[in-house]
Amino acid sequence: MVKLNKDYTKLDEDYLFFEIEKRAAFFVKKSLCNLGIGDITLAIPEVITEAICSATKELQEEKTLRGYGPSQGYLFLREAIQKNEYINIPITEDEIFVQNGIKNAISSLQDLFCKTSYVAVCDPTYPVYVDSNVMAGRENIEYLPCLEENGFLPTLPQKNVDLIYICSPNNPTGVAFTRKDLKKWVDFAKKQNALIFFDGAYEAFITSDDVPHSIYEIPGADEVAIEFRSFSKSAGFTGLRCSYLVLPKKLKTEDGFSIHKFYKRHIDTKYGGTSYPIQRGAERCFTEDGKKALERNLNIYRSGAKMLREGLISLDYKVFGGTHSPYIWCKTKNEMSSWDFFDLLLKKAQIIAIPGSGFGRCGEGFIRFSAFANQKTIETALNNLEKVTL
Ligand code: PLP
Repeated sequence: MVKLNKDYTKLDEDYLFFEIEKRAAFFVKKSLCNLGIGDITLAIPEVITEAICSATKELQEEKTLRGYGPSQGYLFLREAIQKNEYINIPITEDEIFVQNGIKNAISSLQDLFCKTSYVAVCDPTYPVYVDSNVMAGRENIEYLPCLEENGFLPTLPQKNVDLIYICSPNNPTGVAFTRKDLKKWVDFAKKQNALIFFDGAYEAFITSDDVPHSIYEIPGADEVAIEFRSFSKSAGFTGLRCSYLVLPKKLKTEDGFSIHKFYKRHIDTKYGGTSYPIQRGAERCFTEDGKKALERNLNIYRSGAKMLREGLISLDYKVFGGTHSPYIWCKTKNEMSSWDFFDLLLKKAQIIAIPGSGFGRCGEGFIRFSAFANQKTIETALNNLEKVTL
């Protein structure tokens, strides 16, 4: 009988969402204000679904039928991404790889690198970065504390590291790296010969010129960084699945191998591509009517985040994020633990939020609120919270 890869037994129990569901099960679901969800709640604009439907219809005719697509993604989408997202940035369409989600892309790309690589991740963090490295058998993981004292931005690693994960705007803390902050990391990676995985899943929420949309806005980043972007949160594709990564041809491993060449080899073997209709839907996001429709939805999420942030501040909560991000990182009151605060919110205010400790040890004492909710839910949550005495 086949034996398990023992590295899988080293993973933490994936109990966070299960535990939340379990505790929330005692309440009438309809009466709960769900501010925990990291998923979109607004309908996908018709201009996008229409593009997907008409691409699907092409498959009804033999003359327009498409079977397996290019593993790197159709040229029409890679060109649209390059022309719209990398204006004045020296990235070419053949350095873009279309994927079916950052989660998949970021968790599988580390397969290319040797097992003994040293990895640096923020604490708290999006759990996929850690789990995918644990599954790959990596033991050398340095956690970079992101605390109130350092504005939830990590300080440079103590050891020599090979792989660094940066997420900006950040999940869960909602804070974003300024150009100056990010330059420090690019310079460090160059000096150390390290590779940065830059996760820009929430890039569409950036509201200030000071915060770079792409790591390649920092000179020299194309020698040290791979960037991940997604249509999930910017265009409502969490269920449709489409994302991309940018892998500059300049990137080399320490032993001189081209990362681009081996990544292409990797996806040709392991990845079946993103479906044609979905790629047409993603392409439509870059048209004038597509951009307008997406902006309407993003503005609703942005004003929800603003309302939630300001509402929490007015109730005397200490909050972070929520400006360049749909997430608000809120300090519990009276030094309550994340789970105690979760229970209090659930029982006394019928609110679901995510305990910060679920994202790492340094998340203890915080809770994450999400603005992927409608205005009514946010208003009700704030009204309920106002009545809670602590
Ligand atoms: N990266 C971060 C930081 C996320 O929070 C998420 C989803 O919540 C993802 C990546 C996943 O993105 P995708 O839907 O493209 O797989």
